[in-house]
Amino acid sequence: MDQRSRVIKPHLQSELPIISHGNGIYLYDKQGNQYIDGSSGAVTASIGHGVEEIIRAAVQQAENVSFVYRSQFTNQPAEDLALKLSEWAPGDLNWSFFVNSGSEATETAMKIAIQYWQEKGMSGKNKVLSRWMSYHGITLGALSMSGHILRRKRFNALLDQLPSVSAPHCYNCPLNQTYPSCQLACVHELEVAIQRIGPENIAGFIAEPIIGASGGAVVPPPGYYQAVRQICDRYEILFIADEVMTGMGRTGAKFAIDHWGVQPDIMALGKGLSAGYTPIAATLVSDRIIETIAAGSASIMAGHTFSANPQSAAVALAVIHYLERNNLVQQAQIKGDYLKDGLNRLKKKLPIIGDVRGMGLLQGVELMADHQSRKTFPLKAAVTQRVVQLAMEKGLIIYPAFGGLNGIAGDAFLVAPPLTIKQDELDLIIEIIEDVLLEVQQVCVKEGLI
Ligand code: PMP
Repeated sequence: MDQRSRVIKPHLQSELPIISHGNGIYLYDKQGNQYIDGSSGAVTASIGHGVEEIIRAAVQQAENVSFVYRSQFTNQPAEDLALKLSEWAPGDLNWSFFVNSGSEATETAMKIAIQYWQEKGMSGKNKVLSRWMSYHGITLGALSMSGHILRRKRFNALLDQLPSVSAPHCYNCPLNQTYPSCQLACVHELEVAIQRIGPENIAGFIAEPIIGASGGAVVPPPGYYQAVRQICDRYEILFIADEVMTGMGRTGAKFAIDHWGVQPDIMALGKGLSAGYTPIAATLVSDRIIETIAAGSASIMAGHTFSANPQSAAVALAVIHYLERNNLVQQAQIKGDYLKDGLNRLKKKLPIIGDVRGMGLLQGVELMADHQSRKTFPLKAAVTQRVVQLAMEKGLIIYPAFGGLNGIAGDAFLVAPPLTIKQDELDLIIEIIEDVLLEVQQVCVKEGLI
């Protein structure tokens, strides 16, 4: 056997560095290279690497018991975690269904929404509407709701629905309008879609409160979610907030939807829930939904072997305690403002930056061939990939967020370091991004792309 890596990687032809260890915001590979984890992996490692008390919580739980099966036993860490999440979550999202990934969390949300209406005798309500420029996961149900053209492409024949409405992306409005004169045309579009499809056929509407992987931290215009909530109420449609990327303090509030004071009926969590120390995700459900199902068939038709895994639950609980004790939700807001100021300073210097946006420590940078005319780079120019690659060579990890706009164009990346990052480390990130973008900008000019 040759010595090549046997792990199937995103790009089969390219080798990836093997990480030997991590500490704080830094990762180290076997060659001794150091990387700043400027995106917390996939916006996941939100308290940084190697935190002693999380490791201790994992070991302690392993000494007690690592696995029990969800239909035979419950377990104390899962119970404690569900209680803690009910305190954290807005309103009456008092119930947690634990799964292992964000895709499972959104797909479970979809199933619970459909089941809720079945229990109420309205089984025709079985579609979940969603938006373009969105990502809700890679499994078929979750992908079916996702408005991410590149990720759907190969599987379209298996996906049972298409997103129905445009994303609230004011910088590059898909409806070609301008806020506020648009009067929230994207919300009006949702109402029209509901009327056309028929509310009697619709179980829910799912949205990422701030669009992550497919858009690059796109924040909707003021009033958007309040108007969405009103429409959902008017047509008896459940509102599902996909907080897999934005939840657990990442945006400077416990959950991004809290920025607008809007109450979802179901919420999907993942990523930062365990800060990457173990796989766990959750679907949070309101009292009303659980009571309806409890009074009906009394069983939710979803679940996985590893659901509510005690070891993962103990880790997630320790992560929440760590967030609380170190005041990291508030820290995310303060540090996020600082990071955004830094990125905005770069925007003044570097014409390749079209837009800087985001909340807390979920910041996005959109790259444009021409900001004035909103001319994007062609996808085949792979500008985002070049930026991400060059940043890595310079010791900084950032997260690509491209291809969501319309599948043929759109370049953006996320800067989302651990919430524990220090100010001088943020300065370093900004410095490296400046270097990288300057270099890529020069190459783009040379290649006639700008
Ligand atoms: N929803 C959102 C908003 C996400 O960002 C992601 C992951 N990028 C998912 C769902 C899917 O999560 P996972 O990769 O853990 O399945």
